[in-house]
Amino acid sequence: MGNNQHSPVPQLDHRDQKRRQVLLALIVITCVGGLFFGALNWMRGIYTAAWIEFVFAAFCLVAFPRVRVTSRLQRWALAICLPWILAVWLVISIPAAAASVFIWALVLPILLMFLLGRRLGLVLSVVSLAGALLIAGSRFELPQDPDEVAYAANLVIAAVAILVLAYVYERAREKAEQDLKYLAVTDTLTGLPNRVLLYENFDRMKALALRQKTPLSLMIMDLDHFKQINDRHGHDVGDRVLRVVADLLRQRLRRSDQVYRMGGEEFLVLMPDTSLEQAATLAENLRSRIEGLGTGLDIAPTRVTASIGVTQMQAAEDSFEALLREADQNMYWCKEQGRNRIRAA
Ligand code: GH3
Ligand code: MG
Ligand code: MG
Repeated sequence: MGNNQHSPVPQLDHRDQKRRQVLLALIVITCVGGLFFGALNWMRGIYTAAWIEFVFAAFCLVAFPRVRVTSRLQRWALAICLPWILAVWLVISIPAAAASVFIWALVLPILLMFLLGRRLGLVLSVVSLAGALLIAGSRFELPQDPDEVAYAANLVIAAVAILVLAYVYERAREKAEQDLKYLAVTDTLTGLPNRVLLYENFDRMKALALRQKTPLSLMIMDLDHFKQINDRHGHDVGDRVLRVVADLLRQRLRRSDQVYRMGGEEFLVLMPDTSLEQAATLAENLRSRIEGLGTGLDIAPTRVTASIGVTQMQAAEDSFEALLREADQNMYWCKEQGRNRIRAA
């Protein structure tokens, strides 16, 4: 029956942590590379390039501790990636640099799409590759002998292939991540959200209710003698009853209400902008509809009924646990009194 052990919200944003790690690694590499090539160019007398590399390295030193803690990862990623694109362009444009530096442009699509997401990553990849090609094209004469043609063609084809592959891979990854996130927060039997996001959503609703000075009510519903339904009619019928009850809840509740399957045959409803009286009326309405479900389910004489405990948030310090405890107590009272009833207090 009532299960009060709420697991904390699991980390669903591994992705951001990975992004952060990659960005930090990129910053370290950039810093070391900037210092190295800065010193190298200084010795070669290419002072402009050396200065740019030193400034970039210094920027990385400033960025590193911030990126470790920032909540604006996207902006920082952009702040590192844009100079990177410029640096690649610059390196390609330096007359003294070898033609092989174009290879650096090939790293960009993978990096940009991973750090900035598929869309922005694609746009910047196309821009950076097109820029790199233009710069390389204006710097070198059109290749004449077959070896050079093959070399240039290889680079361009590899660039396009990497761009397309990085995009396709990123899209597949995003889709898989979306599906995984959906599955993690959804109960597959009923399609209702499970309790994973409950804490978070409650906190948001509570903050809104306090700010707008509107009531917030909560309802716990537990189906009565559900074990008997399973025992008499089989687990499949039990599953069907759960789905039908979930459909009923979905249909009867307002769009702003949130219904969760807490596990087993227990459901929880959060009702923003709803007083205890209104919530009680709704609970009674649900109770009587559930009582009437039996005929449609073809399981007579077994009846489907529910016991519902309702409560309303009283003050700012009302925690979710306290509210749940009150609703649970009201629900248990209904069980003790013979089930198939509601209690709002
Ligand atoms: P009470 O009126 O006191 O709530 O009695 P109850 O039988 O409903 O309560 P109890 O907690 O003892 O049993 C709940 C039952 O719900 C036990 C379990 O087999 C069944 N159940 C839990 N999850 C599922 C499910 O996903 N599908 C089906 N078919 N049954 C489930
Ligand atoms: Mg139960
Ligand atoms: Mg039960």
